[in-house]
Amino acid sequence: MEEQPMARLMVTETEVDAGFYKAALEGSGITVFVNGMEGSAFGAALDGPSEIEIIVYRKDLEASQAIIAELEEETEDEIPAWNCSCGAEVDEGFGVCWSCGGEYDAGAESSNSDSTSS
Ligand SMILES: [Zn+2]
Repeated sequence: MEEQPMARLMVTETEVDAGFYKAALEGSGITVFVNGMEGSAFGAALDGPSEIEIIVYRKDLEASQAIIAELEEETEDEIPAWNCSCGAEVDEGFGVCWSCGGEYDAGAESSNSDSTSS
């Protein structure tokens, strides 16, 4: 039986992260091996693993990286602290103004997009 070459896709710090990525990759039809979790395909070979490896077949590496990149873009889609048009300062992570109830406008801060209209 031929063994396919494998490659380490990424390292996560928690089993929750590893499980999240594993599920996402498997959902896209990619075979995933996780090294460092209890009951993994590789077994708990390391003593006290502080990092969890996510391993895929090398042929799936590029596709896997693309999927991970997409996931990371989504998780970084957080709202920074912003100033509402009513003058209130809203803390990061809140999409609605606590003062007037106005919604966060992602394009409000960078008002240089309409420079062509003159
Ligand atoms: Zn407001």
